[in-house]
Amino acid sequence: LRLALDNEEFILHYQPQFDIASGRVLGVEALLRWHDPVQGLVMPGQFIPLAEENGLIVPIGAWVLRQACRQAAAWERADHPPITMAVNLSALQFRRGDLFQTVTAALHESGLKPDRLELELTESILVHETEQALNAVRELKALGVQLSIDDFGTGYSSLAYLKRFAVDKLKIDRSFVCDLETDLDDAAIVRAIVQMGHSLKLRVIAEGVETDRQLHMLKLVDCDEVQGFHFSRPLPPGELEPMLTRASTTARAG
Ligand code: C2E
Ligand code: MG
Ligand code: MG
Repeated sequence: LRLALDNEEFILHYQPQFDIASGRVLGVEALLRWHDPVQGLVMPGQFIPLAEENGLIVPIGAWVLRQACRQAAAWERADHPPITMAVNLSALQFRRGDLFQTVTAALHESGLKPDRLELELTESILVHETEQALNAVRELKALGVQLSIDDFGTGYSSLAYLKRFAVDKLKIDRSFVCDLETDLDDAAIVRAIVQMGHSLKLRVIAEGVETDRQLHMLKLVDCDEVQGFHFSRPLPPGELEPMLTRASTTARAG
């Protein structure tokens, strides 16, 4: 992994996020891949746990932030409509490494405005990390950086952090979206998350949307945004660009 970082073998793919009502692309999520010369494309599930164990997720995560900000700024310069760039963070990036410094450097270097960057945190980070570690979150929020909670609903049920960190967006975990059409409990959970999110003035996005029926159900419960294979897989930047240019209407179908 260390060599992969030195040899610049990491790449980012980007998956678009659509506004359900207008069908427009509002943002993309940066997803890390390792282009191993021998094994080919390696998915994050196969190497991120190891990188978290040996600490390399800190420099790798810093590279992801730099690269994602650079890409978002390049798209803006190329006159694509403004979008939000979402980046996943690991707990270790809070504990070690200077997260505030890393993020502000990535923004400064790329020229990307802070409100165009969204950091995806998990519930466990907000519940388990120390106040000191989480100060970076408050400082970044003060700069205008957006905050979303990834895999929402799978972690801990302390909801105080939603208020404490002025979270902007909830990402409903894929596991609830998956059986939305057939499982009444999942449908009730998704509806409850959307209602709670809206009462707290948060936007709600569903991840892992794979079918038209799921999209239909999400519209019924008034979910704001969707992301999933039904609309697009995570793609290399060049392949995603056509979707950024035309106002896509894919999310409106169904
Ligand atoms: P995540 O942040 O929850 O990302 C969503 C994952 O769901 C991605 O998997 C994406 O490809 C996949 N996905 C999207 N739409 C669908 C769908 O319709 N159906 C199904 N079955 N899957 C869908 P991926 O790219 O393999 O990433 C897995 C996880 O690895 C991410 O989950 C995130 O936790 C982590 N990860 C990825 N990139 C980074 C990174 O740069 N830094 C850190 N710390 N973690 C990352
Ligand atoms: Mg994510
Ligand atoms: Mg997720």
